[in-house]
Amino acid sequence: MGRVYIQSENRRKEYKESREVPLGTVMLGDFFSKDREPLGERLMLVNASHPIPQPMNRPSLIPVCDEYPEILMEETAAQALKRLLRDIGSGGRIVPVSGWRSHEEQQKIWDDTAAERGIDFTRKYVAVPGCSEHETGLAIDLAENAPDIDFICPEFPETGICGLFRRMAPYYGFVLRYPKDKQDVTGIGNEPWHFRYVGMPHALIMQREGLVLEEYVDWLEKGGRQKGA
Ligand SMILES: [Zn+2]
Repeated sequence: MGRVYIQSENRRKEYKESREVPLGTVMLGDFFSKDREPLGERLMLVNASHPIPQPMNRPSLIPVCDEYPEILMEETAAQALKRLLRDIGSGGRIVPVSGWRSHEEQQKIWDDTAAERGIDFTRKYVAVPGCSEHETGLAIDLAENAPDIDFICPEFPETGICGLFRRMAPYYGFVLRYPKDKQDVTGIGNEPWHFRYVGMPHALIMQREGLVLEEYVDWLEKGGRQKGA
């Protein structure tokens, strides 16, 4: 049985019992073992064909930063985001736009966006209520700080501090959830601003293997079967 090499302090903290699992040979059983958190919560696949199980317990939520106390995420995800922003020296240049949303809020965003920008735009960029990752508390929309920020499609460029955030995100458990080249898999348009917390080591494996969550969950399941786990 191999191991995932944990190089940075933060990753070491996050993945407490660091074991070295060669990427590509991770077995499903690793993530289901009794001393490890179950696969379920953080890798919960939520999309148009995988609605959030109802009723869902409200996640344990905290603000993602002091300046925006109304923007909440699940506690572990929020703490990882705080560390990431602090470690890259964001200094307020990256701002949170939208974190946890209740089902009602998601419905309102859907209705308002459809009224203002039309149904085609809404289908492309707003998840159907009940099928939004924002309702899990594990997703965050971010923007480069600017006077005018578009709530639905915030600017989060590839360069500068946002580019640095993007490169470092997997080391803190975050993945870019809706990449441009995976629109046919995710069913959502290119969203350079939407990050999903999956934790470690999943984020880094997904990054290295070039997999979005739909593919990763499938990959884990197949890997488990192939290896008889
Ligand atoms: Zn989002």
